[in-house]
Amino acid sequence: MNELFLDDEHILLRDMVRDFATNEVSPVAEELDREAKFPHEIIQKMSELGLMGIPIPEEYGGAGMDNVAYAIAVHELAKVCGSTAITVAAHTSLGTIPILLAGNDEQKKQYLPPLASGEMIGAFGLTEPNAGSDAGNTQTRAELVGDEWVINGGKIFTTNAGVAGVLNITARTIIDGEEQGIGAFIVEMDTPGINICPPEKKMGWKGSDTRQLFFEDLKIPKKNTLGDPRSGFKTFLKTLTGGRISIGALSTGTAEGAYESALTYAREREAFGKKIYLHQAVGFKLVDMATEIEAAKLLVYQAARLYDAGKDVMKEAAMAKLFASEVAMRTTTEALQIFGGYGYIKDYPAERYFRDAKVLTIGEGTSEIQRMVILRKLIRSIQQDPSI
Ligand SMILES: Cc1cc2nc3c(=O)[nH]c(=O)nc-3n(C[C@H](O)[C@H](O)[C@H](O)COP(=O)(O)OP(=O)(O)OC[C@H]3O[C@@H](n4cnc5c(N)ncnc54)[C@H](O)[C@@H]3O)c2cc1C
Repeated sequence: MNELFLDDEHILLRDMVRDFATNEVSPVAEELDREAKFPHEIIQKMSELGLMGIPIPEEYGGAGMDNVAYAIAVHELAKVCGSTAITVAAHTSLGTIPILLAGNDEQKKQYLPPLASGEMIGAFGLTEPNAGSDAGNTQTRAELVGDEWVINGGKIFTTNAGVAGVLNITARTIIDGEEQGIGAFIVEMDTPGINICPPEKKMGWKGSDTRQLFFEDLKIPKKNTLGDPRSGFKTFLKTLTGGRISIGALSTGTAEGAYESALTYAREREAFGKKIYLHQAVGFKLVDMATEIEAAKLLVYQAARLYDAGKDVMKEAAMAKLFASEVAMRTTTEALQIFGGYGYIKDYPAERYFRDAKVLTIGEGTSEIQRMVILRKLIRSIQQDPSI
């Protein structure tokens, strides 16, 4: 990890999470994947260690640390278990942060302490069957009837849906029969009218809980509106910007875990009378992997630092997520190659890292969408330059 970005507090946290990941998460990572088992005990222990609300202010029961610290923790978890890392990242960046960003005092006091302590898990429902990359095409509707929103529709691919206490969703708002835009809402998961489907069967991140949800005349109080009911979509886009930094950290962690296991293997395995890393074709793969991981980390920590400084990091977060997720895909592919036939066999972790990496180029905005976001920012910066 690049020490330039880290202060003493970050290093203490990194060492603590690294110990926890090595001693508590790594021994069960293969089983969580094989059995598609949600990491309940790990989440319980992480709650006790204060790791479920790292960037949440202390006044709301969080650790009050910055986003660099949070990225470090996600990276260390992903080095050993992508499923655990995404459970924490979806809970924090998507399940909790929207309430911190757009909630009123009452909502913050009610929901943030149980979320930050890990007593309650958070989730985020933006994606629908016809609203993925085109998230503004949401079809879910929330109609104001008296003092309640009546919600009909549904969400797909919702991480943590089966274990969450709280779900933040978007829906088209209807007031006095007129559509007003897209709003954001806090939904308590034990409210009647929510149908929670069985977990999706996935290629990777098998220990994380991903489900489809249907809402049938789901009634929530008007006070659960998150911000202005006409501009909730903006809150979600802002949430995704921060979330992309955490997916960048998940990507660097996944890549580093695969790289380190390939490095160890290359130092042990022999072919043609020498260690395979001494065959330059293998050694250079390791060099390229290490170099790209270092570059990806710099992008992720820079985006986190700028985010903490209150800057608009839409471009930087998209660049960090785009580059780091594609590095994760390249690194895990090459790591599997270095393991040869064993890379394809489940006795070694290479194939799990490979399967866990793919979704990093898809979730929280595909690589294509990141490129669109970056391009838009690049063009705007040219148009604003008076010299042009
Ligand atoms: C394991 C997992 C967990 C997830 N967790 C959550 C969650 O917790 N909450 C949530 O809301 N969502 C979640 N998602 C959804 C995820 O964010 C979406 O899958 C993703 O945004 C892509 O949307 P889509 O699947 O509808 O693909 P589509 O939007 O249908 O895209 C299909 C393909 O077309 C490309 N494409 C689309 N539009 C364009 C364009 N304009 N230009 C160029 N290419 C384009 C895409 O890049 C992609 O390659 C999760 C997904 C997965 C797989």
